[in-house]
Amino acid sequence: MKLLRLIANLGYGSRKQVQQMFREGRVTDAAGDVLYGDDVRDPADVRLDGEPLDPPPGLALMLHKPVGYTCSTKDAGRLVYDLLPPRFRLRDPVVSTVGRLDRDTSGLLLLTDDGALLHRIISPKAVVPKVYEATLAQDLRGDEAAIFASGTLLLEAEKTPLAPAALEVIDARHARLTLTEGRYHQVRRMFAAVGNHVDALHRSRIGGLSLDGLPAGQWRMLSPADIEAIF
Ligand code: URA
Repeated sequence: MKLLRLIANLGYGSRKQVQQMFREGRVTDAAGDVLYGDDVRDPADVRLDGEPLDPPPGLALMLHKPVGYTCSTKDAGRLVYDLLPPRFRLRDPVVSTVGRLDRDTSGLLLLTDDGALLHRIISPKAVVPKVYEATLAQDLRGDEAAIFASGTLLLEAEKTPLAPAALEVIDARHARLTLTEGRYHQVRRMFAAVGNHVDALHRSRIGGLSLDGLPAGQWRMLSPADIEAIF
């Protein structure tokens, strides 16, 4: 791909703005030789103002989403994109969230510009388990694990019952729930269906991938081994 298009697609500016960067000699190779918009180069060998370019298409990252951030590109209020380099939401292909977490849910959120990867994780046929840690407003009754595991629980306004889900009781007000599907507000609605209320919700794991000490608000790129670990 020609450098003009590559750099514009990475979100550094419109084609016109990027053309201007070339005219000003701001795009060079690693040795400092000026490059031109029509040149084709390995992105790893290109510098803009002396800095390496952002990763090329095919990136995937994990973010430790804090409570209070929305998984949207243009909502009022704080967005998960505010925690990432600003260019990530201007790229083509765009870096999008792999599914969503509610504004009031914290935890592991994946983002990628790789449509095939996104589909592999969230498609209804995918059976990537997602693990949630729930803090509850009421003590657990004791029958929730059996109800969630039954494969017969029908949420309000839904036509098909939920797939079986595994509930691990940690104590009277704390439970770990493993889901293999991702319906709207699913965890909160499941606990509502058994007469409880989720006070706090945190996603700790997607497949074999966990936050592993990544602090809230921080992100890191996924390695090929991390991606393998999801499935
Ligand atoms: N279930 C919910 O209710 N909320 C989330 O953010 C994720 C799963």
